[in-house]
This record gives sequence, structure tokens and C-alpha cells, in this order.
Amino acid sequence: MENKLKNEIDKIFQYNNNESKKIIPKKIMIEVTNSCNSKCIFCANRKMTRKRKNIDRDIALKALEEGKKLNIDEVGFYVCGEPLLNPNLVEYIEMAKKLGYKYIYLTTNGILADKEKVKKLFENGLNSIKFSINSINPENYKKIHGVDCFNIVYQNLRDAYDVRNNSFKNCKIYVSYIKTKYNNFDDKEIKKKFSNYCDEIFIQQVRNQGGLISNIQSIKIDNLKITFPCYYPFNTVVITCEGYISACCMDFQNYLVYGDLNKDCLENIWNNNLIKKFRQLQMSGKLEKTICNNCINNTFDKCEPLDEKYSKVINYKNWENE
Ligand code: SF4
Ligand code: SF4
Repeated sequence: MENKLKNEIDKIFQYNNNESKKIIPKKIMIEVTNSCNSKCIFCANRKMTRKRKNIDRDIALKALEEGKKLNIDEVGFYVCGEPLLNPNLVEYIEMAKKLGYKYIYLTTNGILADKEKVKKLFENGLNSIKFSINSINPENYKKIHGVDCFNIVYQNLRDAYDVRNNSFKNCKIYVSYIKTKYNNFDDKEIKKKFSNYCDEIFIQQVRNQGGLISNIQSIKIDNLKITFPCYYPFNTVVITCEGYISACCMDFQNYLVYGDLNKDCLENIWNNNLIKKFRQLQMSGKLEKTICNNCINNTFDKCEPLDEKYSKVINYKNWENE
């Protein structure tokens, strides 16, 4: 882990000292859909004002092909929605595998991850699946996720673990748990509930998602320390369901979009002036008026998009009621 971190820092340091040197993205994340079948209290998805849609098939395939040409080895099929709602997901995973991606993964709320579906995902090349389960009992799950699906998800997790153990021993099953004041169970209890059915559990504090979780002060437990420069703009290509390219996977309103894959190629966009300028802002920490400033400081201040034509600009005064 330490080496990995050092490599990232070295890469950013090189970037700072030699702007003309091209940095190579490490992973690509594809928003196969921005729809979701949950309404988690800590997630901006429920208030997002972008049009709900599945990604166009041609754009998903273009992103995969061009990502591979840039020698990217990792692809994650989730961003701001629930990936299993997209009927083409298995085909995209199969395509990623054929193109030679070495690590293919996704995060799901698990509601649709029954054993047949998980088997298909693994058969076609998925390397890991992370179940986002943010409670340990049905009553509390309903409060946190906004849907009454704890028993379905818990059963799906156990079935997925069986499927993996029987036929896909090299694949991984993870659980992620976001803590707020309202699901603040002891870590030991959380581990006891899930550790027999997964390889690892990631327990994290809630983030304010670029400021869009405006009630963060009332739901957070501690102040989450976030440092800059943030790695996302330097190592991750995020393809939105509209086919845009964003600097961050928590960009619910497209405020960090810097190009359009419908109109240009991935390599040109990854190196365009807008993102280069933004990376310099990240390096210098002068992030005022960007959503990163809210993300780092846990604030809900008015921000401006990198390019208004791609974003769904919000009225910060009305956001609570939108
Ligand atoms: S955290 Fe995931 S499951 Fe919950 S609302 Fe957001 S996208 Fe949906
Ligand atoms: S909003 Fe900015 S600082 Fe926060 S995770 Fe995204 S890119 Fe990083």
C-alpha cells in the first residue's frame, strides 16, 4: 500500500515539475447508468437533477477501446448509479475482458445481485464485486437506504459468496459500509454480521460528495480529513452516462466534466487545457468555487462548473427542496 501511494505522489510530483510530460490514467470508471433503486441518506443520487439514463452502447464500447489504447488495465463499472439496472452490463464486462483489462470490478447495492446474475458477471470476466450495505438489520437499513431490502441483499451476499467459493475462487467479494450518526454500529458488530460472507469489509466515514450532501453536519460522526491534491483528476477517467468525461466519480451534477467523448477521442480530452488547468489548481490548492473545495472542507458553498455546457447547474439556495 505504501509503495502504491508513493508511486501516485511521484507521478503528481513529476506532473508539477514538467507540465509538458503526459500523465497516463490508471483506471477508467464507466457510469453504465445514473439511475438507482435506493435512496441512501448519505448519497446525492436521490437529489441529482441530471436526466436519468443508461449509457449509449456505442459510447461504452468506445470508452473501453480507447482506454485500452492508453494502456489502462483497470475498469470499474459504476459511478453515480446502480450498475445492475443496465441490461447491457454483462456484455460490457465481456468486452472489457476480451480487450485485455486485467482488473474489472463494480460496486452494487446488491438488490438485483441474485446468484444467477453474479454467476454471469463472474463467468464473463468480473474480478470483484463490492456490496454496499450500510446497516446490520432490516429496520435500520430501511432508514438508511430508503428501501426495505435488507433481507434480499443479505441473502444475495451469502449466495454470491457460495457461487464464488464453488466456481470462481480467484474472484473477490467485498462489503462497504458508510457510517453516519444513524447507522453508527460498533465495527465489531458490523464485522460479525458480514465477515463470514466476504473477503474484506471497508468501513468508511460519510463524505459530503462535493458539497451536495448539504446536511452533512447533521449526519456525520467525525470530520473526515481529505487531503489535496486529490488523485482522481490525475489517475482516473470517469465516463458519465451522457458520454462526457469527468475528473471525479462523485460528480453528481457534472461540475467537473472537461470533455465530450461523443465529439473527441479519450486521449485528446485527457490532455486538454481545461483539465490541465484544473490539475494545476489541485496542485496549488486554489480550489475555491470548485466542488473540490466543498469536498475537502465539508462545506456547502456555491460552486461553478468547469464548463457550464456539460453540467446541470444547481441553485444552491433551493437544493434542499429539489
Ligand atoms: S449509495 Fe449507491 S445505492 Fe445508495 S443511492 Fe447512492 S448510488 Fe444508490
Ligand atoms: S470532489 Fe474533488 S477533491 Fe473530492 S474526490 Fe472529487 S476530485 Fe477529489
